[in-house]
Amino acid sequence: MRAMRGTAVAGALPIFDPSRNPMETPAVHPAVGEPRCLPGAFVVVSPHLDDAVFSCAGLLRAHPGSVVITAYTGLPQAAHMSTDWDRRCGFPTAADAMAARLAEDRLALAQVGCMGLGLGFVDSQYGEQPPDGQAQLADSLVRVLAGLGADRVALPLGLFHDDHVRVSDAGLDASRACPGLSWFFYEDVPYRKRPGAVQARLAQLRARGVMATPAPLKTDLAGKADAVSAYASQLRGLGGLPDAGAQAESYWRVAGGEEPRA
Ligand SMILES: [Zn+2]
Repeated sequence: MRAMRGTAVAGALPIFDPSRNPMETPAVHPAVGEPRCLPGAFVVVSPHLDDAVFSCAGLLRAHPGSVVITAYTGLPQAAHMSTDWDRRCGFPTAADAMAARLAEDRLALAQVGCMGLGLGFVDSQYGEQPPDGQAQLADSLVRVLAGLGADRVALPLGLFHDDHVRVSDAGLDASRACPGLSWFFYEDVPYRKRPGAVQARLAQLRARGVMATPAPLKTDLAGKADAVSAYASQLRGLGGLPDAGAQAESYWRVAGGEEPRA
């Protein structure tokens, strides 16, 4: 078993080591009560504490009992460091930022009615990416997905930002280790708006032998705007997310997966 930053694994579920990572995993939503996917539900893999809701709130709302796994929920060793992004979002230190972001995430996930789990890796803005970070992420995902009894998994397409690309690529590694599951990509909000970003990433993946087909998954966009608004600090940093509440979500089925059951 690989050593995973900030995370130890007991059984199949992630347990956080407080000596390495004082942050708690996002709360288990009481509507679910236990860390298992319900039949027909999705697992959405989120790089940061906001991406799953920004990109997939409608999917989560339409599939009760879904689960969000967030990769970068950990606190850096230098918890009182200060980054440009955190300052833009109103936080003087990383510790302040992560505490507030976890609270925002709990609120947003409660609004879309799903459970959240954190993997405890550290955001690249804190400069602590290990050279085998992708492999560690893939290992962690495989273990957590097995523990959840996952059936259908949605990964970020990986349109922009090193963390998004790393999580997308790690998810593809995990998909090869779990070929019995159905795998999908979601288009990362707000990066999907960048001209050519989706096209370029799909071409890059195709060159690596990964094919993707549009997947018309069922979504429920009512209430998405409220869930998105829970991430007040990140919206401040982004300068807003103008039409996130209303925009349709876009999904792709990864070749080799099963036919989508909307
Ligand atoms: Zn992100």
